[in-house]
Amino acid sequence: MDKLKQKEFTLASLTDLTSPSSSSLSSSPVVATFSCVNEVTELRFQESESADGFSFDLSSTQLFKLGPLQFVCVSDKDNSLSRGVVIMFRDDKESKDFSDSFGEWTKDAVKKGSGLPNGTVSDSTSKFDNKIEAASAKMYFHYYGQLLHQQNMLQDYVRTGTYHAAVMENRSDFSGRVVVDVGAGSGILSMFAALAGAKHVYAVEASEMADYARKLIAGNPLLAERITVIKGKIEDVELPEKADVLISEPMGTLLVNERMLETYVIARDRFLSPNGKMFPTVGRIHMAPFADEFLFIEMANKALFWQQQNYYGVDLTPLYGSAHQGYFSQPVVDAFDPRLLIAPSMFHVIDFTKMKEEQFYEIDVPLKFTASVCTRVHGLACWFDVLFDGSTVQRWFTTAPGAPTTHWYQIRCVLSQPIHVMAGQEITGRLHLVAHSAQSCTINLTLSAKMWRPGASQGGILQTSSCKLDLKEPYYRMSQPQVYPVAQEPPAQPQDLQIQSEDLEEVELLQQNANAQL
Ligand code: SAH
Repeated sequence: MDKLKQKEFTLASLTDLTSPSSSSLSSSPVVATFSCVNEVTELRFQESESADGFSFDLSSTQLFKLGPLQFVCVSDKDNSLSRGVVIMFRDDKESKDFSDSFGEWTKDAVKKGSGLPNGTVSDSTSKFDNKIEAASAKMYFHYYGQLLHQQNMLQDYVRTGTYHAAVMENRSDFSGRVVVDVGAGSGILSMFAALAGAKHVYAVEASEMADYARKLIAGNPLLAERITVIKGKIEDVELPEKADVLISEPMGTLLVNERMLETYVIARDRFLSPNGKMFPTVGRIHMAPFADEFLFIEMANKALFWQQQNYYGVDLTPLYGSAHQGYFSQPVVDAFDPRLLIAPSMFHVIDFTKMKEEQFYEIDVPLKFTASVCTRVHGLACWFDVLFDGSTVQRWFTTAPGAPTTHWYQIRCVLSQPIHVMAGQEITGRLHLVAHSAQSCTINLTLSAKMWRPGASQGGILQTSSCKLDLKEPYYRMSQPQVYPVAQEPPAQPQDLQIQSEDLEEVELLQQNANAQL
């Protein structure tokens, strides 16, 4: 496990019970360090300014709490004498962090199998913890534990309204059925399922939001008796029965961001009975090349700051290249005018009922478009839709440009080197998504066009441009002033244009506030 490299705690005091005469290691502070050395997970006690110290193998170490700040730690190796120390912390936080870390690190030690009595390897660590960095998961569930972020999703009426319609139009799929809500959040989808007549709903939610969901559901007594909230990760929890239906909203930007689709299919494999239904059933990633000179210049301009040779007497240019690369590694998230697309879009299907969890780790999409216009291509625009394949009604939920805007907006991968195309010219390429342990993915994009020059058609000379982006670090562009006029809007009157600069600032501020409340 790479995530657990080393973790240190400075102790207020340490008393070695094995040789009580030396009541403490020394007068200099003692540091307790969790680490993994040659496959052995250990806890080492050492004076901060010396190499002296000793280690406990965590596969045979136990921790007992004596008081808020005090623990006794005993190492009990087979065929040798036990060793014990009393450790004291300076404050509650450190004491709690230490005992949490102890739990995490001992789990790791047990997984490695060293010292287990009968030699069996226990797979007690969860599938989730094995592939997701602890720091990422902590931030992720902290985010979803806050009501404001759940409200943000609930206030996306296109989203929540479509889920409501998809459930209500397909009552027969829910009525009298056992439902699992995968990542229940506020519990809203569980309540929709109960409203549609579900026999019982298990609302599984890993974040602190589970407590709020309980409270909200309890306040809806007619539904509450048919809903059980379970606080925990889908990957870890056990349910008393199999489900007929899974309902979930696991979609992230570009569909795959947050890596929750993996959790959704794990829920399918763990809890859904054969022939059970999944709401949503299928997802599609849509892609099309776009031309947006304005966006391209805006991004290129951001790095120009680093072109200054005399910034308070300092030359900033050594970092220009890195800054430029940094900006172009951010996928742009905003709602754009579909007229910026320069070719009919294509899509890649992800069938939630069939896709294996591991297949999400790497998604490779070959690209092929035919340009409709002669232009510079600045990159690839992407969005997604999902299908609720109900027995009564099939309903699609889309985040396409031009459709009512959702909190996902759309995403654009911008090439730092645009390519040139003529109408009718073929654009090929590849979109390669590689999942990473921070619950997101690296996007590798290549777009190529045959050069439109005499002789090029025979030689097939390619003009190619590639970029690598991190979906975890998007550039949210929604607070920018609106650039694209709405199609049917009458042309602006001259007086409309005579806005004072203070007014402009106010408009921008209002817009930012409005966006913050989205
Ligand atoms: N279903 C709610 C919330 C959707 S957001 C709604 O539609 O409004 C996704 C939720 O799934 C978040 O609350 C998040 O904490 C939860 N979640 C994500 N991964 C999870 C996992 N592995 N196990 C349990 N819950 C998870």
